[in-house]
Amino acid sequence: TPVELLPIIRQVVDALQMLARDRGVTVTVSAPKEPLVVSGDRDELTRVFENLIENALKYGASGKRVEITLSRAFNVSGGEEAVAAVRDYGPGISGEHLPRLTERFYRVDVTESRAQGGTGLGLALVKHIMNRHRGRLNIESRSGEGATFTVRLPMSTGLMPATRKNS
Ligand code: ATP
Ligand code: MG
Repeated sequence: TPVELLPIIRQVVDALQMLARDRGVTVTVSAPKEPLVVSGDRDELTRVFENLIENALKYGASGKRVEITLSRAFNVSGGEEAVAAVRDYGPGISGEHLPRLTERFYRVDVTESRAQGGTGLGLALVKHIMNRHRGRLNIESRSGEGATFTVRLPMSTGLMPATRKNS
């Protein structure tokens, strides 16, 4: 099913508004004018952004921004893909932990992250859903420099149902 990404992200940001306010974080969303449409399951893709944005709010720095950037790019085989990056300016993740973040129940054992409740399942689910959508999750971070979680999904060539002409 064709799914447009921006409305999902706006919906998730709205749903997390309370947490953002508690954390003193302003969430910004920037996106190209043309809709980014991928093919997949709307609820599953919602779970992806829920976890990434919730993590950025919980583990990012209070009082700083969380930036969500949508764009389109070409992958190595020339296919077009939708790119969504969630960036925070928190303590980041050190290199030793990065490869293990998407393991089930893996949580980085630092006070700040322990203080925020969680089961350690969110990123495992994100990875699983991305695999099901033939997408990718990339995590970039250095200790002390915040973190960027980027998801890439093949763009759907089909039109959105609302704009589809007969048949
Ligand atoms: P759950 O998502 O199940 O509620 P969780 O948030 O602890 O629990 P994940 O979303 O899988 O689980 O994240 C795993 C761990 O990765 C977190 O516990 C945290 O230590 C670390 N982490 C995730 N996102 C960030 C981030 N933006 N900055 C710093 N650390 C992060
Ligand atoms: Mg989480």
